Amino acid sequence: MNHTKVMRCKVCKGPIVIELRQHNAAFCAEHFIAFCQNQVARTIKKFWMFGPDAKVLVAVSGGKDSLALWDILIELGYDVDGLVIGLGIGEYSNESTQFARDFATRRELTLHEYDLASEHGFTVPDAAKSTSRVPCSACGLSKRHIFDSVAIDGGYDVVVTGHNLDDEAAVLWGNVARWQAEYLARQHPVLPARNGFPRKCKPLIRLSEREMAAYCVLRNIDYVVEECPMAAGNKHLEYKALLNDMEVASPGAKHHFYFGFLDRAAPLFADAFEASDQTNSHGSELPLSPCSSCGQPSSNEICAFCKLVDRVAPSAEPVSVEISARSDMIDR
Ligand code: SF4
Ligand SMILES: [Zn+2]
Ligand SMILES: [Zn+2]
Repeated sequence: MNHTKVMRCKVCKGPIVIELRQHNAAFCAEHFIAFCQNQVARTIKKFWMFGPDAKVLVAVSGGKDSLALWDILIELGYDVDGLVIGLGIGEYSNESTQFARDFATRRELTLHEYDLASEHGFTVPDAAKSTSRVPCSACGLSKRHIFDSVAIDGGYDVVVTGHNLDDEAAVLWGNVARWQAEYLARQHPVLPARNGFPRKCKPLIRLSEREMAAYCVLRNIDYVVEECPMAAGNKHLEYKALLNDMEVASPGAKHHFYFGFLDRAAPLFADAFEASDQTNSHGSELPLSPCSSCGQPSSNEICAFCKLVDRVAPSAEPVSVEISARSDMIDR
């Protein structure tokens, strides 16, 4: 006799499409979609991310997380535009931008496009070559700068990013492994607006990578499946693999690790947060003043992004758009 229990949807008892061991639950398509949307609604409320009338800008990469986030926020009734940045990482960037465009066109949403090469005369691979640093460093700096600038110039109340539970747990793991107090202090799903920088939130922190992939399939969202070719050797991928092993051994491990940190450990780093807010990365007193090249707040005369532009593409036209960078921001 076969005693295998057939799993049924937790809500309607119908046939399931996904089992979530960490929640000890399974769902049909309809109720899994509702579950994801509820998780985001709960996160926005719990962390006081933004109100129902906020003008929201979503940082879109063309991958599953940012497109799923955009879809969920629209379904929840928020007013959300997207911004995609052409990073110049070969076919990968072209494809990613196309997925973002297709998504926006099909749903008649506003997508801002910003091309690094045509605006500033360099691509992420160019920057990696001329700075001899990992590509993600110049890429992260450029993305933050452009998102900040478009958000401020466009009058958006908040920038949201598609960092999911796997991303945040992996970053936390890296920060804990090296006990980076200042980074730990800033690892919170909400960064308030300050010093001329926009508010930033991460509404997907309760949802995993697997859940986001399933959500996209069920909602017919096409996304770029390949990893960025520049990510090879990125420590976060190794940390994610490690945390996935922990999750298999102990379902819910990622959730407990990350949310346990937010609930119990993060407040202990409040002093480091205050210190990082009042000093620059060298420990000198701020205040920030406008970058002499782009005009956005910076702790130096020339902001880190303008320095990067100058180094990588010195012959490019002077920066004319109002953009901002915060080189010492820990947020990715
Ligand atoms: S993996 Fe690195 S280079 Fe590629 S998009 Fe992400 S931050 Fe940029
Ligand atoms: Zn159901
Ligand atoms: Zn500048």
